[in-house]
Amino acid sequence: MTDLRLSGIGMTSARTRDRLVQRLREQGIANLAVLDRIRNVPRHIFVDEALGSRAYEDTALPIGYGQTISQPYIVARMTEALLQGGAAENVLEVGTGCGYQTAVLAPLVARLYTIERIEPLLARARERLKELGIRNVRFRYGDGTLGWKAHAPFDGILVAAAPLTVPEALVKQLRVGGRLLVPIGPEGEQELVRFTRGEQGMQRQSLGAVAFVPLLGGTA
Ligand code: SAH
Repeated sequence: MTDLRLSGIGMTSARTRDRLVQRLREQGIANLAVLDRIRNVPRHIFVDEALGSRAYEDTALPIGYGQTISQPYIVARMTEALLQGGAAENVLEVGTGCGYQTAVLAPLVARLYTIERIEPLLARARERLKELGIRNVRFRYGDGTLGWKAHAPFDGILVAAAPLTVPEALVKQLRVGGRLLVPIGPEGEQELVRFTRGEQGMQRQSLGAVAFVPLLGGTA
């Protein structure tokens, strides 16, 4: 592994990344720490080498096993919305995938717990984060719809795959004041929602239409 692999060259260079950041700014991403992460996380190492030249386009790309790396705008939007509205020390991510969202979010929180149901994806994500020197993440192979009770309650929960309805366990593992970011609905009709847990009940805010892979039960 060379430094050049991480810093990028040509279509993966700093200039290409700056253009992506500029685009996200124009689309309304305002949190500078989040934009900084988008600039600094080498998205090209999270995809197949053959797709590297497309890594800084604002699109989802295949990562194998029928899954995709999330679109940078969505990663930025979800991260920003999760950080808004209070402390985000103890955070849970459901759907590690290739680990890109994990790498963007980890340095912005104290502890990040991430769960993935496809073991080889989790193994690779773990390696990449290690390579990037990110150490505050704990990985788990399992069904994220059940949350991670041992580390609850969470200040924030970010779900990177879409359930039809909000998993009850995740709501239970959110502390009062905590935010749950989750795309909800069947393919083609999903909406990104931010729930904030109040003293009594949940406050619901829609963040617009999105396209995610489905959240599935069990492990693969
Ligand atoms: N943010 C990730 C997105 C990965 S796609 C990235 O940038 O790579 C969503 C991921 O959620 C897939 O890897 C899929 O396997 C995983 N997933 C789906 N249902 C799940 C569940 N119940 N528990 C854990 N992971 C799940």
